[in-house]
Amino acid sequence: MRFKIYRYNESLKKPRYDVFNVKEKPGMTILSALFNIQENLDDSLSFRYSCRGAVCGSCAMLINKIPRLACRTQISQLANNSDQIKLKPYPSIEIPSFWNQEKEILIEPLPHLKVIKDLIVNMDKFYKNYNKIEPIFKSSNIKTKIEQLMSPEETNKLEKYTNCILCAACYGACPVNAKNDKYLGPAALAKLFRFYLDPRENDHKKRLLNANNKTGWWACEFKTNCKLVCPKGVTPNIAIGIARNDLIKIGKKPEG
Ligand code: SF4
Repeated sequence: MRFKIYRYNESLKKPRYDVFNVKEKPGMTILSALFNIQENLDDSLSFRYSCRGAVCGSCAMLINKIPRLACRTQISQLANNSDQIKLKPYPSIEIPSFWNQEKEILIEPLPHLKVIKDLIVNMDKFYKNYNKIEPIFKSSNIKTKIEQLMSPEETNKLEKYTNCILCAACYGACPVNAKNDKYLGPAALAKLFRFYLDPRENDHKKRLLNANNKTGWWACEFKTNCKLVCPKGVTPNIAIGIARNDLIKIGKKPEG
């Protein structure tokens, strides 16, 4: 299989694309192919990874113009187009003329984040926005030694939103993040929604107000790319829709 891979480092005036041929093995993932290239063809190729099991979220990258986890994407899956993800357009996923889609797998860094080297991006912007929502559980009962129980119904409601691994695939897939650096982004809003639903926080209902502005809930355009690319089944678009409805119900309009 032929790989076309984005290359960049500080000493280059502009990025380039290198081509590598990798002997495909059954079940081979994109991450395994990148290791193969690094170990056998070019040891300067840089990419981020850790768990190799879709738990750490480190290896998110743009694979054939779709943000995915390299460890969870098999070459065969791309060839068969088995997941058939179709994203709403934004500049980074336009198909370039230099890419032969039939014969090559195109690997690029996640969009909307500054590239440090090759496929490694600087996550500061993502975390800066994420930290704005104060992603910390604020217990209403911090002094007690007894566990704070939730009903199964309450747990079910928020469980999906606890599955986020902060891979930033949704951030790189979001057409609003593409044009608005200040937009908190799908992952941050999904996490904020998780705290909004958590009855163990005293003021959990007030959590909605943390993003009641034009860079929070109200910036989303419901393109739903976030939901399509999330490797953990998180649905930020649904969280945002419910949050907006709930804000409207209590008569809140976006501030700022
Ligand atoms: Fe990754 Fe999904 Fe979390 Fe977004 S919501 S950061 S795609 S796990």
